[in-house]
Amino acid sequence: MARNWNESYAAGELPWDRPYPAPQLVELVEAGALPRGRALDIGCGTGTNARYLAEQGYEVVGIDLAPLAIEQAAAKPKPSGGSLALQEWDVLEADPPGGPFDLIFDRGCFHVFDDPADRARFAERVAASLKPGGRWVSLIGSTEGPARDHGPPRRSLRDIAAAVEPALAIESLATFLLEGDLPTPTAFWRMIAAPRATPAQPSTQPSA
Ligand code: SAH
Repeated sequence: MARNWNESYAAGELPWDRPYPAPQLVELVEAGALPRGRALDIGCGTGTNARYLAEQGYEVVGIDLAPLAIEQAAAKPKPSGGSLALQEWDVLEADPPGGPFDLIFDRGCFHVFDDPADRARFAERVAASLKPGGRWVSLIGSTEGPARDHGPPRRSLRDIAAAVEPALAIESLATFLLEGDLPTPTAFWRMIAAPRATPAQPSTQPSA
C-alpha cells in the first residue's frame, strides 16, 4: 500500500528533513555547474532546498503530495531573494505546474517509488518539464553501502538507468554518504540528467 506522507508530517516524523539545504545541491550551485532561471523542487517537504534555490536567485516552484508538507513549508519565513511558489501536487498524476524549468531538483522523491513504472513516469514528467538546456539533479538512496534495516529506500544503478535513460541522458551518477547523525552509513546517488537531443541509440551487437 502507498505510504501516507501526510501522516508523517502530522506526526512530525521526518527523518529525511534537515534544517540546512542539501550540501550536494549547494556544492553544484556554488560551482556554477547548474543552469540558472526557473527551478522546480519535486517532493519539496518543508521547503528548505526550494527556499535555498530562491535565495540563490531562482524563480522556484516547490511541489509536494502532502498538504501538510506544503503548509509547513509555507509557514517558514519567505526567501530573501528570487521567488518561491508552493503547491500541493502529485508528480505522477500530471506535469508539474509553472514549467518548463531550467533546473529540476529532488532529494529523496524519485527514490520513494517501488514500482518501476512509477519511476519511469517520474522521469517522463521531468523530461516533459525541462527546458532544452535544463538539468535534473536527483539525490537517490543507493544499493551501495552496508546493509541496514531502516532509513531511505535503496535503488540500484540499473533501477535508475531503466527509469531515466529512455527519457533523459544521464550525465553523471556519483556515490556519496548522506550527512547527518545516522546509525549506519547511508549511501546515496547524486544523478545529473539532461534532456535528450536524440534517443539513446541501440546497443552495439557483435557483427555476424
Ligand atoms: N525533499 C524533501 C522530502 C523528502 S521525503 C527533503 O529532502 O526533506 C519524500 C517527499 O516526497 C515527501 O515529502 C512526500 O510527501 C513527497 N512525495 C511522495 N510522493 C509524491 C508524489 N507522488 N508527488 C509529489 N510528492 C511526493
